Amino acid sequence: MTHHSAPPPAIGCRNTPILKQRGQHEVFCGLTGIIWLHRKMQDAFFLVVGSRTCAHLLQSAAGVMIFAEPRFGTVILEETDLAGLADAQEELAREVDRLLARRTDIRQLFLVGSCPSEVIKLDLARAAEKLSARHAPSVRVMYYSGSGIETTFTEGEDACLAAMVPELPETDKRQLLMVGALPDVVEDQALSLLEKLGVEDVAVLPARYADSGVSVGPNTVFALTQPFLGGTHAALERRGARHIPAPFPFGEEGTTAWLQAVAREFGVDTARFDAVTAAPRARSIQAMSKAKQVLSGKKVFFFPDSQLEIPLARFLVRECGMEAVEVGAPFIHKALVGPDLDLLPEGPVIAEGQDVDKQLDRCRAVQPDLTVCGLGLANPLEAEGLSTKWAIELVFTPVHFYEQAGDLAGLFSRPLRRKSLLQLDAAE
Ligand code: SF4
Repeated sequence: MTHHSAPPPAIGCRNTPILKQRGQHEVFCGLTGIIWLHRKMQDAFFLVVGSRTCAHLLQSAAGVMIFAEPRFGTVILEETDLAGLADAQEELAREVDRLLARRTDIRQLFLVGSCPSEVIKLDLARAAEKLSARHAPSVRVMYYSGSGIETTFTEGEDACLAAMVPELPETDKRQLLMVGALPDVVEDQALSLLEKLGVEDVAVLPARYADSGVSVGPNTVFALTQPFLGGTHAALERRGARHIPAPFPFGEEGTTAWLQAVAREFGVDTARFDAVTAAPRARSIQAMSKAKQVLSGKKVFFFPDSQLEIPLARFLVRECGMEAVEVGAPFIHKALVGPDLDLLPEGPVIAEGQDVDKQLDRCRAVQPDLTVCGLGLANPLEAEGLSTKWAIELVFTPVHFYEQAGDLAGLFSRPLRRKSLLQLDAAE
């Protein structure tokens, strides 16, 4: 298969010793995933069993919709529940009954655990099982945890998808499962490319509707579109499906390599692959060119947050000419990000987990041109004169596949451009 991208580096980062950090960390919790998951799954409802803090987080992150009934909500645990004075399980069952009676459009209900529900050891898995039996077959009730205790914000999606996998019907058919919640328009672009390549029988997890007929079995191969789906990867393997390892579809190189891995699996010939991808590849390279001028030669430092860090470092170094000085990720699953680590030339510190003060010291010492971090660190670092990019924006913005490559590069070049404009203004 033709590959016009730069050759892989002589030594990549797959075997670079990982700096493991186990200290204080600054990340959002897994509830955040509800913001994009409820938009994706159009007949699902996410019921958080949590505190007022959880409700505030969701409302401020998602915005309050006054024109439509939202598809997420919070059952607030009161002090009596926390003290074990009330039967929280019974109250929850009553709330679910009320909700489902009122909202007949709901086909999948997720009970989402939080820090308080975990602390009081509320058995939401059992609650989901009982409620599912009560409301079957019209509604399936599932459970996952979005608690902020020891989890990061993208793990919410992973936990949600992993909870869906055991519920999927069994199939023997040879099929590709594309796994990860993408904005509809991006998902459609990916499906169109796969169709043009001749890959038939493609299913998507999560599907837009519960009755989309997604199934899994020993002849299913799956390709992940998000690098944070370690739990889902394991759950699919338990169902007999086989993972197609590939770099993640960010930028021209990442998208081409991802598609090539799928094409290889399905025996697509080189001529067809080149014919289908030539035009979008050229478009994506053209779309990235302006941002590349700004980014080339600049140093980037990643704090661990979204779990997209390693594939994005690969993108910024190889496709935008940046130098990565440190790439921190909350967790490093080599089965998932190994192919991106192979392409990332050796040099940067690869760190897993966080000890935020020590990492801030390292960041200040190298004075990167761009720091990718969570919201909590961005403002203080900006105040110290460092340019930052909020990691959460990379999850909320469409950034996958060829047509978004220019926007993805632009997300990183904008803070640098803004800084140089401010410096110009100050000099005048
Ligand atoms: S789940 Fe935990 S971290 Fe997340 S909003 Fe609720 S209390 Fe806060």
